Amino acid sequence: MKYYSTNHIASDVSLREAVVKGLASDRGLFMPREIRKLPESFFEEIDSKSFHEIAVEVAGAFFGDDIDKNSLDAIVKDTLSFPTPVVEVEDGIYSLELFHGPTLAFKDVGARFMARLLQYFISSGDDRRMVHVLVATSGDTGSAVANGFLGVDGIRVHVLYPKGKVSEIQECQFTTLGRNISAIEVDGTFDDCQRLVKSAFMDEELNQKLLLTSANSINVARFLPQAFYYFNAYAQLKRRGRAGNVTVCVPSGNFGNLTAGLIAHRMGLPVRHFIAANNANDIFYKYLHTGVYAPRPSVSTIANAMDVGDPSNFARILDLYCEDHGEISGLISGAAYDDETIAETMKECFDRTGYILDPHGACAYRALKEQLKEGETGVFLETAHPAKFKDTVSGVIGSDVAVPDRLAAFMKGEKQTVPMTPDFPSFKAYLEGLS
Ligand SMILES: *Cc1c(COP(=O)(O)O)cnc(C)c1O
Repeated sequence: MKYYSTNHIASDVSLREAVVKGLASDRGLFMPREIRKLPESFFEEIDSKSFHEIAVEVAGAFFGDDIDKNSLDAIVKDTLSFPTPVVEVEDGIYSLELFHGPTLAFKDVGARFMARLLQYFISSGDDRRMVHVLVATSGDTGSAVANGFLGVDGIRVHVLYPKGKVSEIQECQFTTLGRNISAIEVDGTFDDCQRLVKSAFMDEELNQKLLLTSANSINVARFLPQAFYYFNAYAQLKRRGRAGNVTVCVPSGNFGNLTAGLIAHRMGLPVRHFIAANNANDIFYKYLHTGVYAPRPSVSTIANAMDVGDPSNFARILDLYCEDHGEISGLISGAAYDDETIAETMKECFDRTGYILDPHGACAYRALKEQLKEGETGVFLETAHPAKFKDTVSGVIGSDVAVPDRLAAFMKGEKQTVPMTPDFPSFKAYLEGLS
């Protein structure tokens, strides 16, 4: 399968090149040339298949031309070593819990898949140089990528994060690991971190010295595997007789997760409607209503993994629908909530149902509650375990959120970071020091 750039200037590349490069040479994002429709029989029988069987079929449609069957099977198996259950919160509203992985957030899926795929390409290729993975994080990406790549030979990970803007629990999940993982504490915002990473990829001098790649959802190996759990959620709903009229609501920041859902839809997944739920960073919401995309600096919220002012994957959504605003706003509706509303939603849901939402899932739950129509089944993606935002959540619901052992173990480690100013020359000097 060939991958093209959303800017349509750079020429097509192989999967290997798309994964290793991350971003196309014209600064566009890679997209698969072909999105294969899965046969109807697949959907008819999906409720009798395991998560592994479903994912192998979906992965085969994406990557089957480029990776031998056994290797792909092993990569999928390793990626999906934890469940993604659909849990009924109340009548007609289901939570797709994506937080049962090592760092308790959905990004574990894409991060682990990418680590394994990259390892496969490094070990089977001619270029045996060390690969440096650069990742900008507003919280959860950094921990998922760091843990997905921890101890993988031939790869070093550099996590850039905005100083003082991620929760203590999030921070310790990537600052305490050591080994092949470095945490870079940038005196700036998430957008600054993202800009530093993008600038590094565009710097020719640097790219001659070092083999650099991204692990943000701009990387196809990170975002495409997220399609797996949309199919698996559908299978679970079908088993309960709730697979007709499905609306899926995705709490969105950089829009990788939603884009994976849209790709699943293009492959034939019978979802009627999508909702993109935002916090106060409502750039996409405004786009749906006005047709104008006006990125602006991100603002800090209690759903901080969605504090994104210029979502990278917007380019992919535009590309999928040939920039047709009518088609996009017909399939996807939006929602945007301030912190007060997010908190109120967590409290109300807990008091009435006993279900504990994290602040991101709360945005999506609220949007479903407001927009779901009679006879529809709503699924929202619960993207993180509420304990990752323990202080916020416990304070809001007035009840202590238990911290799973896995998370508590991170808190005991010693924090080690590299301080960095938000200007590119300093970051470049740091990277040059590694060659
Ligand atoms: C990353 C993240 C999001 C946003 O996902 P995108 O793919 O960037 O839109 C939502 N919730 C949580 C908990 C996250 O970590």
